[in-house]
Amino acid sequence: MMTTTEAPTTLRFLSLEITARCQLTCPSHCYAQAGPTRGHGSMTADDWHRIIDEAAELGVRKVQLIGGEPTLHPDFTGLVEHALRVGLRVRVYSNLYRLRDEHWRLFTHPQVSLATSYYSDDADEHDGITRRRGSHAATRGNIIEAVRRGVEVTVGIVDMGGGQRARRARAEMRALGVEVHVDRVRAVGNAAGAEVPSAASLCGRCGDGKAAILPDGRVAPCEIGRFLTAGSVKGGVSLASVLASDRWADMAASIPHRAGAAPCPPDCNPSHSDSCAPDKNTTCPPAS
Ligand code: SF4
Repeated sequence: MMTTTEAPTTLRFLSLEITARCQLTCPSHCYAQAGPTRGHGSMTADDWHRIIDEAAELGVRKVQLIGGEPTLHPDFTGLVEHALRVGLRVRVYSNLYRLRDEHWRLFTHPQVSLATSYYSDDADEHDGITRRRGSHAATRGNIIEAVRRGVEVTVGIVDMGGGQRARRARAEMRALGVEVHVDRVRAVGNAAGAEVPSAASLCGRCGDGKAAILPDGRVAPCEIGRFLTAGSVKGGVSLASVLASDRWADMAASIPHRAGAAPCPPDCNPSHSDSCAPDKNTTCPPAS
């Protein structure tokens, strides 16, 4: 039971994980453990619309629609349009595996940007990671199409080690004129295996100005920190009350923070930002 309704004033970025369904399975690293047989969760379209309204009221500048594959959600288009209507910028984190004309119409809106994951310049290696033959050609082709249409697109390369051609993939993307970042896989979801995910694998600034809502309405500091949920927006509960709760404060305090770290960039996410790239000597490696 929430006792307060006052929200932190610093929430700037909100990630909406609207589905666990995906055409791919990525068995080695998918933090959401998404796949073709997973569902869209228990949040209804009305729930998501309400949260988008509240995000705008709270001063959020950008929402991210992510999954799973967000374009598979039956109200994907309506949610993007609604977010734009209330003045939010929108990032769609998609696998870019199958897109329709209506998607491209959305993506060319000036307040919409795209992000995706890419694993290798070698099709067999990429398809082996996604476990979907043809995914390399489809994703690469849609990255090129996004560039051609003038859509802002960021590529995150998740490096699982073992000689993966991540550097070559980065060079390939850069040659296309795409912003690209490399992250190493975090021990969450499929990558955790039998391990219990640890807060030490997080950057140490999770939840600072950002939050993520999972398909069942639980609220987490970010998608990677999904094992640290603290409250839920299901049943008409306001996001403000979750973020202002003692439970949220306790969760945030449980994440090991790094001394001297700059504030988390608002749109830091699994594979978007340098700030979340542990292989770079920048600001945001895992705290451990
Ligand atoms: S494409 Fe993304 S959401 Fe889909 S299975 Fe792979 S990592 Fe998970």
